[in-house]
Amino acid sequence: MSGQSVPTLAELHALGPAQQPTYPDRASVDAAVAKLRKMPPLVFAGECDDLKAKLAAVTRGEAFLLQGGDCAETFDGVTADNVRNKLRVLLQMAVVLTYAASVPVVKLGRLAGQYAKPRSSDLETRDGVTLPAYRGDAVNGFEFTEASRVPDPQRLVDVYNSSAATLNLVRAFVTGGYADLRQVHTWNTDFVLGSEVGRRYEQLAAEIDKAMSFMEAIGVDVEELRRVDFHSSHEALVLEYEHALTRIDSRTQLPYDVSGHFVWIGERTRQLDGAHVEMMSRIANPIGVKLGPTTSADDAIALAAKLNPTNEQGRLTFITRMGAGKIREHLPPLLEKVHAAGVEVAWVCDPMHGNTFEASSGYKTRRFEDVIEEVQGFFDVHRSVGTWPGGLHVELTGDDVTECVGGGEDVLESDLSDRYESVCDPRLNRVQSLELAFLVAEMLRK
Ligand code: PEP
Ligand code: MN
Repeated sequence: MSGQSVPTLAELHALGPAQQPTYPDRASVDAAVAKLRKMPPLVFAGECDDLKAKLAAVTRGEAFLLQGGDCAETFDGVTADNVRNKLRVLLQMAVVLTYAASVPVVKLGRLAGQYAKPRSSDLETRDGVTLPAYRGDAVNGFEFTEASRVPDPQRLVDVYNSSAATLNLVRAFVTGGYADLRQVHTWNTDFVLGSEVGRRYEQLAAEIDKAMSFMEAIGVDVEELRRVDFHSSHEALVLEYEHALTRIDSRTQLPYDVSGHFVWIGERTRQLDGAHVEMMSRIANPIGVKLGPTTSADDAIALAAKLNPTNEQGRLTFITRMGAGKIREHLPPLLEKVHAAGVEVAWVCDPMHGNTFEASSGYKTRRFEDVIEEVQGFFDVHRSVGTWPGGLHVELTGDDVTECVGGGEDVLESDLSDRYESVCDPRLNRVQSLELAFLVAEMLRK
């Protein structure tokens, strides 16, 4: 394995990849992979390059990344309403961040491919029954039955089709007028409108309207108001899928993983000599790596050397997920040493994955206050080291779910059962997401 050639699947498997499905037979896996290899790309290499250029601006401290979506998308969740609601909350958050902090915001959905989940345990026990854990719709079914939990490679083809449908809808919304900045008011609908943060947003939207009327009056016709740049991302976990969708770009002769614009390596699969790092080191997409509290500065520097040997701006994003109680202790030494080593990287805060706990009712949840506290710690540490707090990576939904506790509407632990819809980690609902955007805008302004 050398240069920009892509290792074979067999070579990757020889590296003993973590968190892979145990398929019952190889023939059906090979059949699914063969089918995927013939499918057209979901994204174009040139679009990946555009995103990389935007992430280079984040790396230089000239822009802020907003990355968000479900912990785990589901095939059932591919509906017009669901996709529109997620897009809408991201657009609202981006407007708040852009307008209130005057910083360009790079919008990146955690969608159209986010179907595979790493698990801390291979098994799940309920009421004395033990079955294989749910690993995302890409692998097996959420339903707690023996049949549903058997990994089925045909699901990889379903991931492709669901991602294609989602991307098609997103592209239509984004270019068809829904993302036009003149729509700022129409994004603020239903249950959000009646909330305190919804009213605050309404005021901001009125200011934007005024600014736009002014620009129109003086004859400025800004094309940027009409359309928005939006890209897709997911964790590159199941190697069969990512490998089958890796293609040589005819323009540059470089391999791109055309399953999404941006792919990241999770906290559980970031071993330096592991298959995921090897595979991702060979593609030309912009990529990310999640860094948890056990990451040493040397680990991060070695990952950067392997994944971005030319130290290209925009190629690599480190997504730290330390936990609210740990970030002020663990991030400074990491940041100082990586910065001193001259590593070009965009630093992004995932304030979700270090703050998960089980409520007494058994639901997995997160406190909104912990999320804010981690983001505040992230900003404070970056400011004291002199690096740019480059963005936010969040699990959210456009719906009125009750999965994370706290926030202005004060979701209580006893409310969790009302509308807990995530098949994996708890997401911020639309009100909580908007509240977060206003708080982060304040942090950015200071
Ligand atoms: C996730 O992003 O859903 C996830 C599993 O994160 P991490 O790899 O940081 O644990
Ligand atoms: Mn998650």
